[in-house]
Amino acid sequence: MTFEDLKLTRQFLNAIEEAGYQHPTEIQEKAIPRILAGQDLVGIAQTGTGKTAAYILPLLQILKFHQGPEPRCLILVPTKELVLQVDKTFEELSKYTDIKRIALYGGIGPKTQIEALIAGVDVIIATPGRFLEIYAKREIAPKKFKHVVIDECDRMMDMGFWPQLREIQEKIPQKKQQLLFSATFPEKVERIADNFLLFPQRIEVSPQSTPAESISQYLYEVPNFRAKLDLLLHFLKNDEQFNRVMVFVRSKEHATGIAKFLEGQGLGEIRMLHSNKGQNARINAIDDFKGGDVRVLVSTDVSSRGIDVVEVSHVINFNIPTHYEDYVHRIGRTGRAFKTGTAISFMDFSEEYHIGKIQKLIKQTIERIPMPEVIKIHETPFDEFQDQMREIDRQKKLENPDYKGAFHEKKQRFDVKKKVDKKGKPKRRKR
Ligand code: AMP
Repeated sequence: MTFEDLKLTRQFLNAIEEAGYQHPTEIQEKAIPRILAGQDLVGIAQTGTGKTAAYILPLLQILKFHQGPEPRCLILVPTKELVLQVDKTFEELSKYTDIKRIALYGGIGPKTQIEALIAGVDVIIATPGRFLEIYAKREIAPKKFKHVVIDECDRMMDMGFWPQLREIQEKIPQKKQQLLFSATFPEKVERIADNFLLFPQRIEVSPQSTPAESISQYLYEVPNFRAKLDLLLHFLKNDEQFNRVMVFVRSKEHATGIAKFLEGQGLGEIRMLHSNKGQNARINAIDDFKGGDVRVLVSTDVSSRGIDVVEVSHVINFNIPTHYEDYVHRIGRTGRAFKTGTAISFMDFSEEYHIGKIQKLIKQTIERIPMPEVIKIHETPFDEFQDQMREIDRQKKLENPDYKGAFHEKKQRFDVKKKVDKKGKPKRRKR
């Protein structure tokens, strides 16, 4: 199928060509005709499938040209990074129209955003929080909204946006076209669809939570934090293959520690993305990473959504996410639309449980690769080992609420200086 077959007009076909899209992706083939026909739609599609253009293109064609001053279309997304990402795709695809848009997100003062609203826009791309904040100042005229998109709905629900979404629905006209996109379709997303959409068509482009086939996934059993650092360094030294790498970590403290360690290793500049970083620092980091000035970006999950980085060579999961859908989102940074990519995960023994759950979710077994022999394994420090055992206890309790937690009674038995086996677990004392 071609974009011409989708009945898009010349100005969009030109913009599509300049964006470098040759053929519509599956979600585009399925969504564009339905949106053009005015239907409500639930699209199950993860990032990397081309879902943003799948709703932007038909909406642009429906909106046709700038009318103003009141906005006619509202696109809601969970994070400011995603607002910026959608805004960029919008800019690219609307270049041959005079349709005006505004990106509304927090972290900066609302003054400039309000000025643009007053000047008149057709489309608002916003996080729910900032939309309501500016709405409360009476700077958004809600009467003309005819199209609403809720993107990454599962993420919105995880982030607790249900009350805000409901509030927004109350403020805008009932009669409108609503489109909902989500990487997965859990019950809470179904609730949104049932409450807000009118006889929606449901389209799905890949089975629920399945990573794109273009991503090769590998798993290393790595006993401890130190060994994970050494393995990470081992990979990053190979700058020919690992030429644009996102390293995902559990927390901003981890991000800072790992970036600091890497900075001392002569790998070039290392940047970080996490919630403590200011808006400008984050945008600069993303731009420099995209531009190729920075090869390695260390990021937490919060910042992982909505960053569109084409041709990331590798995603490295320094830890296994305990929020299992984050695995799919993390590795979705590589192998994006028609490109191949590699996702490598580091797992210590307390994370095996989570890998089991992830494999169940993605309905795949991730290939395990032995640790490279050059990596010298050090003993797991006592505190870290205790944390790992505590985590195992927690998992056992999750599986069996009656489980009493063996670790707390026995923890005294492990001696700091004990010998470790290949996995970094202290060897048992012979009786
Ligand atoms: P998304 O799923 O919206 O996050 O899009 C992922 C990436 O795919 C973005 O970099 C888009 O520019 C790109 N893309 C979207 N549609 C196409 C297409 N038809 N052909 C090639 N790339 C595309």
